Amino acid sequence: MTSSARPLLNRRLADFGTTIFAEMSALAQRTASINLGQGFPDTDGPEAVREAAVRALREGHGNQYPPGPGVPELRTAIAEHQRRRYGLSYDPDSEVLVTAGATEAIAASLLALLEPGDEVIALEPYYDSYAACIAMAGAARVPVTLRAGDGRFVLDLDELRAAVTPRTRLILLNTPHNPTGTVLTRAELAAVAELACERDLLVVTDEVYEHLVFDGAEHIPLASFPGMRERTVTIGSAGKTFSFTGWKVGWVTAAPALVAAVRSAKQFLTYVASGPFQYAVAEALRLPDSYFADFRADHLAKRDLLSAGLAAAGFEVFRPAGTYFVTTDIRPLGESDGFAFCRALPERCGVVAIPNAVFYDHRDEGAPFVRFAFCKQTSVLEEAVARLKALAG
Ligand SMILES: *Cc1c(COP(=O)(O)O)cnc(C)c1O
Repeated sequence: MTSSARPLLNRRLADFGTTIFAEMSALAQRTASINLGQGFPDTDGPEAVREAAVRALREGHGNQYPPGPGVPELRTAIAEHQRRRYGLSYDPDSEVLVTAGATEAIAASLLALLEPGDEVIALEPYYDSYAACIAMAGAARVPVTLRAGDGRFVLDLDELRAAVTPRTRLILLNTPHNPTGTVLTRAELAAVAELACERDLLVVTDEVYEHLVFDGAEHIPLASFPGMRERTVTIGSAGKTFSFTGWKVGWVTAAPALVAAVRSAKQFLTYVASGPFQYAVAEALRLPDSYFADFRADHLAKRDLLSAGLAAAGFEVFRPAGTYFVTTDIRPLGESDGFAFCRALPERCGVVAIPNAVFYDHRDEGAPFVRFAFCKQTSVLEEAVARLKALAG
């Protein structure tokens, strides 16, 4: 231990000591609760993909440092995926970069593209690593709050526009949006694109839930809008789409200069990661359309099961158009403090959820909202719904 009074954790990270997920997962264990807090699936993805990883490992593919940008098989598969799905064409050699999950893609993008003092606009509530990575880059975050209305959380385009200052360098977008489940519409994305072009901003867009959109919602990559290909870093991940969150295979697609910049930061973070898994994910990306359709249908049924259960228990439910999270308002239950509610919920009925306030700078705005994950087996969700009935009294 140092004898000085100076804190060990530096000032930039002082606000990011431990995540709420650690506290809530420990609480889940201690109380034998059903953990609908952290968003990871409780069953693995396709057997064929798992076998592809085993095969790669046995055949000696990727057991040593893979190439810095990622194995060519995976970069080609990512480029094919972007073309097949969205008609976006990226050169696998100069416009695709494989990362240690979307988490590293976010960190490397922000560390590469920001100068200290730059401002970054992020949609609030935001994924927890955004604030920490913006802080590590020495930049300032400027939250633009999605507000509840008409059964969804809505981006106020005037507020977004007003948030841009001469110091703004970058918009950090996330659609489909965790935790609210909002999928930005074509009109909203067009407005974001127009603003980025007009004010000459870069955009880093986290699209890890691209395959989880429901009902009439459509995921449209921001990079597909006029003027955006040259200024957009698009982030994807195998973790959410193929239910292998432990493999940590993510990627970036962007114009060559942007990929080169992100790679400069990435090479000194992990250098490379997940060798054999990269080969398996290359196969996963080439699964037939039926895999993606079934994946979506399965989660749609789970969304409806949990949403109905939460509504029956007395919550106001914001039925998500995307992701595998449902955000609720606890005020109809006579509660207003999501933190207190989530800390008490395991004792009250054996279920763990996450208070959305942790994803806000404006904690008051997020106070009454609580997030539940539905990427769990149907029987687990049924049991959670049965337990939550206790709240209805
Ligand atoms: C899960 C998640 C990530 C992290 O993805 P990994 O590939 O596991 O690093 C990034 N962004 C959002 C919005 C997420 O929900």
